[in-house]
Amino acid sequence: MPKGYHCGRTQTRPYTTEYHRINARLFKSLLTTALGSYSLNSEHLSNEHKKLVLSENENGVRYVIFTINDKPHRIVLKLDNRSVSNKLYITCPYCRKLRQSLFAIKKAYSCRECIGLHYASQSERPQERLMRRIRKLRVELFGHDYPGVSNMFEQIGYWPKPKWMRWTTFYMKRDKINELEEQYWPMVDAKIESVNLLL
Ligand SMILES: [Zn+2]
Repeated sequence: MPKGYHCGRTQTRPYTTEYHRINARLFKSLLTTALGSYSLNSEHLSNEHKKLVLSENENGVRYVIFTINDKPHRIVLKLDNRSVSNKLYITCPYCRKLRQSLFAIKKAYSCRECIGLHYASQSERPQERLMRRIRKLRVELFGHDYPGVSNMFEQIGYWPKPKWMRWTTFYMKRDKINELEEQYWPMVDAKIESVNLLL
């Protein structure tokens, strides 16, 4: 390949995927572990983005501090007790708002809004669009009432053929859904991958 020749498309605008996202649920185990130093296990993060100190204030609220660029980044772990699922939120070190995830940028952890990622929703669109398409095809093939028809975590592999449909048509439609689901999951996994808490 000649020098200066670029294969594939060129990105001309910032995508959220350029930044590594850390999700609130990764901190869930820190709600019950001993206070002290921990490290996030990820090849995508710098050392400063990995090392954290877990502390607790006088009200029993836990928070972690990352020291990045000599600056303490305080992230509070806030459990939402109103919901049955006890969802965990983390606060942005900059705007202090409750967030489900933060992004690792060069010298900070910050929420999407603080970074000014205006294209964030656009870069999520292909995944959402694909999910909607898969659900639509599932409903068309198996019907609205089929249990779990909209649940992406349910596998369609053994779901029954509608009585009136030819087998060849059924296989064709099912293969199409399978094909789209194979495209869908790597998009989701790319967001969840690789940040695990090393305790
Ligand atoms: Zn923020």
